[in-house]
Amino acid sequence: MNDAQWEACVAFHGHACPGLAIGFQAARAAQIHLGFQSAADEELVCITENDACGVDAVQYLTSCTMGKGNLIFRPSGKQAFSFFLRETGASIRLVWKPRAWPEERQAKMEAIVAADPAELFSVTEPHYDVPEKARLFDTITCENCGEGTAELFIRLQNGRQLCTDCADTYNRGW
Ligand SMILES: [Zn+2]
Ligand SMILES: [Zn+2]
Repeated sequence: MNDAQWEACVAFHGHACPGLAIGFQAARAAQIHLGFQSAADEELVCITENDACGVDAVQYLTSCTMGKGNLIFRPSGKQAFSFFLRETGASIRLVWKPRAWPEERQAKMEAIVAADPAELFSVTEPHYDVPEKARLFDTITCENCGEGTAELFIRLQNGRQLCTDCADTYNRGW
């Protein structure tokens, strides 16, 4: 068990919990499989299929973060994380394997943290592609509220450029 790394993840997340331990091990498994530690920029991309506690350990250990645009949330509700190395094209999808853990929360967490990360996940190829690099968009001022937003989020409604807060939604299930 790598105590210093785990403690650092706990400090980043705010508390120790079994969910954080899952992300901790997912990040370590990805590092082992891809032979890569953490991202200075967007060379490593993580697609997380959940927005639970474990994502914080993934962010801390791999430096795939929301702010850099190399942490992408693709909700499926699964304890699954994919990692892509842009330079080599290597990719991996890790899916948490069900197995009998201690019932008690603290014991479960400790058992997960102490386990060999290579044994905890099914390893497959992602069934989705790595997204393009983060783009920069011009800022447009909403003609209703006056707040600026990225061009991507502007809607044209009755000839006015509106932000998504101000535009009426029209959902036909497309
Ligand atoms: Zn937590
Ligand atoms: Zn607006």
